[in-house]
Amino acid sequence: MNNIKDSILVIEDENYILKVLDTLLSADGYRVICAQSASAAKSIITSHMPDLILLDLGLPDMDGIQLLKDLRKWSKVPVIVVSARQMEKDKVAALDEGADDYISKPFSAPELLARIRAVMRRNSINNGSSEKYQVGDFLIDFDRHVVSVKGVPIKLTQVEYRIVELIARQPGKVLTYSYIINNIWGPYADAENNRILRVNMSNIRKKIESDSMAPKYILTEIGVGYRMAEQ
Ligand code: CA
Repeated sequence: MNNIKDSILVIEDENYILKVLDTLLSADGYRVICAQSASAAKSIITSHMPDLILLDLGLPDMDGIQLLKDLRKWSKVPVIVVSARQMEKDKVAALDEGADDYISKPFSAPELLARIRAVMRRNSINNGSSEKYQVGDFLIDFDRHVVSVKGVPIKLTQVEYRIVELIARQPGKVLTYSYIINNIWGPYADAENNRILRVNMSNIRKKIESDSMAPKYILTEIGVGYRMAEQ
């Protein structure tokens, strides 16, 4: 049932549990990425943009709740907290801080897989189905992740598409460079990403605009950020 391309970041410091989860999730068709500390997780979240995170609360370098709190400042990636802790207050704290679900160790494999499918499904519904953005000849089908100009699909990289979608979700609103960078690469991204954003935008414009020096769809607010033309 699940999309084979969906990736799951497992943040867990215990080798044995990490191996069990890796084997289980890989067998179910997910792409699995592993992190054994909060610091490793942070850079992986920034570089790999996982579709879902399984988060152990007891990590060696940071409390899992704190990591979740930091993550929620910039990312809506679904998070399922997996922990040996069975105390009610930890569940509440995790959910209050934006966890999508909670599962206690020891858990059954079918139960965990069912929770993951449910969270993925909810998240894709929340992202809106059959929603579209259109201005002039430019069309974005958010549901299908397809961008087209005059009916011709445009091939964007994953990052380019995410930038276009982020801006197009709030047409007419100026999104600052740092807002976009935080949303696409996360707050752990360094200053280098400012340049990377500009390079990506330049490539996007070459692909979607008839004159990339005089853009009609994604407009520049000099020194501030970008703004999508209003529908
Ligand atoms: Ca642990």
